[in-house]
Amino acid sequence: MDDLHMNDLSDIVAADRAHIWHHLMPHKSLETTDPRIIVEGKGMRVWDQHGKEHLDGVSGGVWTVNVGYGRTEIADAVRDQLVKMNYFAQTLGSVPGARFAERLIAKMPGMSRVFYANSGSEANEKAFKMVRQISARQHGGRKYKILYRDRDYHGTTIANLSAGGQDERNAQYGPFTPGFVRVPHCLEYRKQWDDVSGADYGRRAADAIEEVILREGPDTVGALCLEPITAGGGVILPPPGYWERVGEIVRKYDLLLHLDEVVCGVGRTGEWFGYQHYGIEPDFVTMAKGVASGYAAISCMVTSERVFEMFKDVPDDHLGYFRDISTFGGCTAGPAAALENMAIIEREDLLANCAAMGERLMGNLHELAERHAVIGDVRGKGLFCGAELVSDRTDRTPAEEARVKAVVADCMEQGVVIGASNRSMPGFNNTLLFSPALIATADDIDAITDSVDRALGRVF
Ligand code: PMP
Repeated sequence: MDDLHMNDLSDIVAADRAHIWHHLMPHKSLETTDPRIIVEGKGMRVWDQHGKEHLDGVSGGVWTVNVGYGRTEIADAVRDQLVKMNYFAQTLGSVPGARFAERLIAKMPGMSRVFYANSGSEANEKAFKMVRQISARQHGGRKYKILYRDRDYHGTTIANLSAGGQDERNAQYGPFTPGFVRVPHCLEYRKQWDDVSGADYGRRAADAIEEVILREGPDTVGALCLEPITAGGGVILPPPGYWERVGEIVRKYDLLLHLDEVVCGVGRTGEWFGYQHYGIEPDFVTMAKGVASGYAAISCMVTSERVFEMFKDVPDDHLGYFRDISTFGGCTAGPAAALENMAIIEREDLLANCAAMGERLMGNLHELAERHAVIGDVRGKGLFCGAELVSDRTDRTPAEEARVKAVVADCMEQGVVIGASNRSMPGFNNTLLFSPALIATADDIDAITDSVDRALGRVF
C-alpha cells in the first residue's frame, strides 16, 4: 500500500466512529472495536487502515466491483468526461449517455431504451411506476398489482420493501405500499412441494405464481418482478422448467415481466445478463452494481420496444409520457465509467474468465462439502455462488446464525472477505456468499476456498 499516513488515519477512524452511519450494522460493536476503513484497492485486493491486505471474495461486499480495483483507465475516462461536461439533466442528452445506451442495448436483443438513475432501488421504482402508468392508461387502473417473490430483494425504499421477500428487512418499516403481492420462492433445497423434484419442481414452483394470479384476479395483476437468480436471499437458481413455465404464465395473463439484474447484470454469471442463460424475454431489466463496477453511481432501467411503444403514440397531454426524472441520472460520470467498464470486460474476455473461474469455485465448494458435513447445498452460476450451511444434513436444519457469522469473521481474520446471506426469515440467513471480481485467477479462487476450509474446521 502506498502513501499510508497512519496518523491521518487515526483521525479518520475517530471521525468515522463519531459521525458515520455504517450500513446494515448494529453500532454497538463499534464501541469496543475500531471501524475497519478500506484505504486502497488494487485488482482483487484491498488494504485497511492497519495496512492489512484482504483478498476480496465479494467484489466490494455486495457484488459490485466486477472489474476489480485500481482501474486507472476508468478513472481517466471519467476525469476526461467531467472536465469536458459533467452534468445536464437527462431531459437533454449527453455523449457518454447515448454511447453507453447504444452499446448496452446491442447486448440485449429485444430491448430498446435506457432510463438512467443512480441506484438499483431507484431503477426498480421506475419500472414499478411504468407498470402503474400502463395500468392507468390501458386498463383503467385495474391491472396495478405487481407480483414479487419470497426471498427476492429489490431495494431499500418503501415501495421496494413492499416488493421485498425478506421479512426481517421489512420489520418495523411499514406500513407498506399497497398492490405488491408475494409468490413463493423456487428453492428446491427448501422444498415446499414434497411430491415433485427436478423440472417438475420448477414447473410446480411456477404454477404457484399462477395460483396467486387466480386468487388475486388476473385482470388486477399487471407485472411480475423477479431476480433471475436470487442474490442476498441465498443464491437461489431457478430449477429447470421454472422459466419456461413463467414465460407461459406471463403470456397467458398479459403480464409485464420485470427482471431485477442489479446483481446478475453485466457479467456476474458469465453472460452479460443472468436472464440470458434462460431464454426469457423481459419487458423491463434493471441493473446497477456492476454497470460501472462502483467507479461511479449509475443504474439503468431498460425497457423493451413494446413498452416504449406504449408511451410513444399517446395524446400530447401531461398524462401521456413517463413523467419521471432522476436528477443525477444526468451525471456523465456514470455512463463514461460504464463504457470503459464494458470495454474492459470485452478486452480482457472477462465473461469467459467468469464462467471458467465460476466452475472452479463451484468445484472447490463441492469438494469442501465432501469433507465438511455442515455444507448442505452448493449453488451458483459464474462468479455468483453460495454454500448453504446446515447443522444436520438429513433434516436440513439451518446452521446457527452466530456460527455462520463466525465463519465470515474467521475468513476476515485470515485476510479473505466473504459474505453471508441477509437475514430474511429466521433460519434463512445461513448461506455463505462468494462473488469475486470477474478478473479472479485460479490462485485467488483457491485462496478463498482454502480460507473457508480452515474457518469451517475451526468453527464447526
Ligand atoms: N436489487 C437487488 C437484487 C439487490 O441485491 C439490490 C442491492 N443489494 C438492489 C436491488 C438495490 O440496489 P441499491 O442498493 O443500489 O438501491
